[in-house]
Amino acid sequence: MSIKVSALTKIYDTQKAVDNISFELKKGEIVGFLGPNGAGKSTTMKIITTYLPPTSGTATVCGFDVLEQPMEVRKRVGYLPEANPLYFEMYVREYLEFTAGIHGMGRNAKKRIEEMVDMTGLGKEAHKKIGALSKGYKQRVGLAQAMLHDPEVLILDEPTSGLDPNQIVEIRDLIKNLGGSKTVLLSTHIMQEVQAMCSRVIIINNGQIVADDSIEHLRQASANHDILIVTFEHAIDSALLNELKNAQRYEHSGDNKWELVTTDPEALRKEVMQWSLTHNINISSLQAQSHSLEDVFRKLTKK
Ligand code: ADP
Repeated sequence: MSIKVSALTKIYDTQKAVDNISFELKKGEIVGFLGPNGAGKSTTMKIITTYLPPTSGTATVCGFDVLEQPMEVRKRVGYLPEANPLYFEMYVREYLEFTAGIHGMGRNAKKRIEEMVDMTGLGKEAHKKIGALSKGYKQRVGLAQAMLHDPEVLILDEPTSGLDPNQIVEIRDLIKNLGGSKTVLLSTHIMQEVQAMCSRVIIINNGQIVADDSIEHLRQASANHDILIVTFEHAIDSALLNELKNAQRYEHSGDNKWELVTTDPEALRKEVMQWSLTHNINISSLQAQSHSLEDVFRKLTKK
């Protein structure tokens, strides 16, 4: 197992940021770590990368415990922290040489730095100081730094946050290509990000895991639920909605508007038409809407 987190808890003063979470990543998996801001993603990642000790529970990387064998863990982990802290006064290659020094890479460093400059497409910008680079290129430097020592596991904290749409696509492609045989845990609060890069998603909310599933499975589960949005001309007696056999549940979504959740939108549509005639209720609009993965995320992480 590349990453194994067991009953991990982190309490800052009085606040429980991570609350008894467990999950595993097999070698080669690219897993999205999804959750709203403040859910506990960065804290979990800082523990896995040995930058923060857990309050209780354990985390191992390639079998090495983060508290007992932190140096072994660091050899195997590449980390792109949130907000990507870099030394803006350093030149790109100078910074990568500095990073290579920290990892004690010795004679292999020069060749590997050129490989990473090439792989991350930094070539034409590599002669500049980091402070002079665009945000997308700074992010490439962050990725080059994370992968320099060829770690088995990559921990990327919001790797595309703050980038423009073109840069987002470039960095996503880079991660997918560079990932290769590596195990990647990447955090984001954007569902599309996960869909674009990952095979599996772990959703965290208020420090607790609320879903751990394949994208395919989540997609299927969400595809099974459609919503029929019905607007009536006048207020209705909501008890009448209970008569609709094809509606699993319903929600009032404003004025005379109701959302009916169904697994069979076509049958429900017919039933609603018949039902409205029976009760002499006028419908001003009837609209079907597919339940998207975004909805699944919102439902699981609702306050
Ligand atoms: P995420 O990465 O999902 O946005 P974080 O792990 O950064 O979430 O934060 C989880 C919770 O812990 C938040 O409520 C945050 O305010 C709190 N937190 C994070 N770091 C600290 C800290 N150093 N001291 C106190 N509270 C913190």
